[in-house]
Parts: sequence; C-alpha cells; structure tokens
Amino acid sequence: MSIIRNEADDLLEKDRQYLWHHMSPYKEKAAPTVAVEGKGSWITDINGEKYLDAMSGLWCVNVGYGREELAQAAYEQLKSLSYFPLSQSHIPAIQLAEKLNEWLDGDYVIFFSNSGSEANETAFKIARQYHQQNGEPTRYKFISRYRAYHGNSMGALAATGQAVRKFNFEPLAPGFIHVSPPDSYRRPEGQTIEQFNLQCALEIEKTIVWEGKESIAAIIMEPVITGGGVLVPDPIYMEKVKEICQKYGVLLIMDEVICGFGRTGKKFGHMHFDLKPDIVTMAKGLTSGYLPLSATAVRRDLYERFKSADEFGYFRHVNTFGGNPAACAVALKNIEIYEKENLVERAQALGAQLRQGLNDLSNHPLVGDIRNFGLLLGIELVDNKQTKEPVAPAKIDQIIAECKNKGLIIGKNGATVAGYNNILTLSPPLSSTDEDLEFIVKTLREVIFKVD
Ligand code: PMP
Repeated sequence: MSIIRNEADDLLEKDRQYLWHHMSPYKEKAAPTVAVEGKGSWITDINGEKYLDAMSGLWCVNVGYGREELAQAAYEQLKSLSYFPLSQSHIPAIQLAEKLNEWLDGDYVIFFSNSGSEANETAFKIARQYHQQNGEPTRYKFISRYRAYHGNSMGALAATGQAVRKFNFEPLAPGFIHVSPPDSYRRPEGQTIEQFNLQCALEIEKTIVWEGKESIAAIIMEPVITGGGVLVPDPIYMEKVKEICQKYGVLLIMDEVICGFGRTGKKFGHMHFDLKPDIVTMAKGLTSGYLPLSATAVRRDLYERFKSADEFGYFRHVNTFGGNPAACAVALKNIEIYEKENLVERAQALGAQLRQGLNDLSNHPLVGDIRNFGLLLGIELVDNKQTKEPVAPAKIDQIIAECKNKGLIIGKNGATVAGYNNILTLSPPLSSTDEDLEFIVKTLREVIFKVD
C-alpha cells in the first residue's frame, strides 16, 4: 500500500485529533508509528519506513505479520458462519477447545473470551464459585506478585502489582493481595539465588496463614513475570509454590497470556516446571494477534464441581463475542503454523542465539543484568552496578529512540520502582529468520555501546 506525503500528513493530523492512544502520554510529544503493512518480523509505516518489530506488537504476533493463510481462514469462516453464541456451540470452537486441550497436555475444559484481561476475570470468577460449589465459600482472596501485570479490568488490575497503573482508578476489586516477586537480580546481598527464591515462595505461605488459610481462593502468576521485567524464577520457587497450593487447598492460576504458545521455548511456560495448574489463561499468541481471542482452561475436576449446582447455580458468565467463529478458525490455523514450522523449538533456539549474541553487553557499565527465557529477553539498565540504581528514564528512551532510528522496535518494561521502567524488553516473532536475529543483535549492540 503506498501512501503519498499529503495523505500521511493528513492522517497524522486526524490521529492527533481523534485517536486516544493506549497507555501513552498526550500526543503533542511525538508522532506515533502509523503502521500500514507487515510481513514476517517487519512492519512498514505510513512514511514507507521499515522496522523490525522485536516486540511482536504487544508480545503477540508470534507467527509474524502477513500470513495469508490466517486471512483466508478468517474469510472462509466469516462467509460460512460469522457469529453464534457459545451458550450454544459452533464447529471452530469445538475443534479449538480440543486442540488446546491437546497442547495443554492435560484434561481441561475451555471457556472463550476476547482478551487476556477477560480470561483472567473469568478465572477469578470460576475459582470463587468453585470453592462455593466445593463447600468452602469463605475462600475469596487472590494472591499475586508485585510487578506482575494481569490486565486492565477492575479485577485483573487489582491482581496487577504495579502501583502506577492503578492509582488513578482505585478502589479496584477487593480481595487481592500481593507478595514479593522472585527478582533474583535484586536479592539481598549474601543470599544465593536458591535461598532467595525459597524465601519468596515462603512469603506466599506466610501470607496465606496470616490472611487466614480458609480465605484464600487462588494464586495467580505468570510462569515468568514478563511485563514486570522478565523475572525468571528458580525452579525451587515453582516447586514450593506447587507444594504450598496443595498444602492449603489453594488453586493455581497460570497466566500464560504472554508465555503461552511457544514464547518460552515450550508450548506453555509452566511446562518448564513440574506443574499442572488448575486454571490456565491465554490470549495473545493464541491467534498471534490476528483477531481478538482468549481462553480460560479449567481442569476437568474443577469443572465437574459445577455440575452439582442447582438450576440457578451454574456458571453465570457470558461473553457476547468470546469465541467468535472466525477468531477460533484463525487460532486453529495459527496453531497449525506453530506445528508445521516447529516454532516452539525455533523459539528455544532463537532465544539462545539472541542471548549469546548479547552476552558481552553485560560488561557494559549500564547493563546490570540480562535475562532470557526462551524468546523473551530483558536487559536491566542501571546507573551504578553496585547500588543497582535504575538508569534515568531519559536514557532508556534515548536507547529506544536510537534503535527506532536504525529500524528496530524494542520495548521498555519493569516497574522496578513504582512507575519506573528500566528494563529493555525483546519478544520478537517466533518465526524470525536468522537475518532478523542478526539485525536485532547488531543494532542493539551498536546503540547500547554508543549510548554511554
Ligand atoms: N496477562 C498478562 C501477563 C499480560 O501481559 C496481559 C497484557 N499485556 C494481560 C494479562 C491482559 O491482556 P489484554 O491486554 O489482552 O487484556
């Protein structure tokens, strides 16, 4: 699609006038990237400039942009059946539910929604009602970690552990409690990673006891805290979490909205640990962002409890667009692409390559820590390696802007200190080519080495 200069200026002016950008300061600051086309890992903007999108949009375009077969799947499905509610059923939803069950390698029943936030809200409601059905109606509280993000709605935001995202909207839903994240880089001096992770897990147990063990419904966590700065737990942390959940009858909700669908080098992030979550939520990579769709997978034995409800006690939760037929058809085709192109294994290999290519950045005075988990990477920038004082926001913004000048889009996340994102994040498409990866490594190295 070609856009002429005047048209571009006109569109930018209308953008300024009419479009309220997500999570962005007011627009006088800088013109947005207005994307026009995408192919593979690359997008082209309104001015004809090309960028490698090393964030896969918002961590979601896992199979890359411009897949004709996904467009075709949507088209075919919209022609044959564009909509039908899931209070009844349709074929793509049935087939997708079966496929997700296979990918989860367990016995799950699937509830479809449209977004990660909705998938988590659904999980909270299922967890609360499950405990009621199970004769423990006092269990209503949820535990999550500081720095994690779980969504924008009143419950999912309450579960979120980033104060700056919340304070303008409070009070949020009650019943959400937070514990420390296993941020091993910022562990107390003298502690090993294992000791620190164990301590973080034990904090969960202490919280359960102090809050009243009969009041806790579930713990919600990502396998790896992603938006909070790519915080990778030691395996002992997850082992202990599992043990604690079993000991206190607390459900484990795994938020796989980012970590699912190969991002971490396994089908789902929790599969790196010896875990079978009670509930798994997923979105983004489910359709690679081609259409909105999310899912809440619930272990069959929990689902079975709902059968004993009286005629008013079934799960009274509906989502008009959740599980739209075209979105399900796209998800099925998208999963077929993961399988055909071995993209889960590819993510593992690319992640290792990316990490290796950037390893010597850790000698740089600004680079406090580099962490990756599959094809998720975080580079924590600090002013002082001893005190670990985060670098000033202006420096992060400068790095991001210089990468962009060289054609590379990267992200910043972290919430290390309230409102403070000092961690560069990368989450490129799982379908990235070797050349794409080389471009990311080369560009990022050039920019970071130049910045100091
Ligand atoms: N959970 C996690 C871990 C996320 O990263 C996000 C979105 N970034 C969500 C939930 C919410 O997803 P959505 O924006 O689709 O509502």
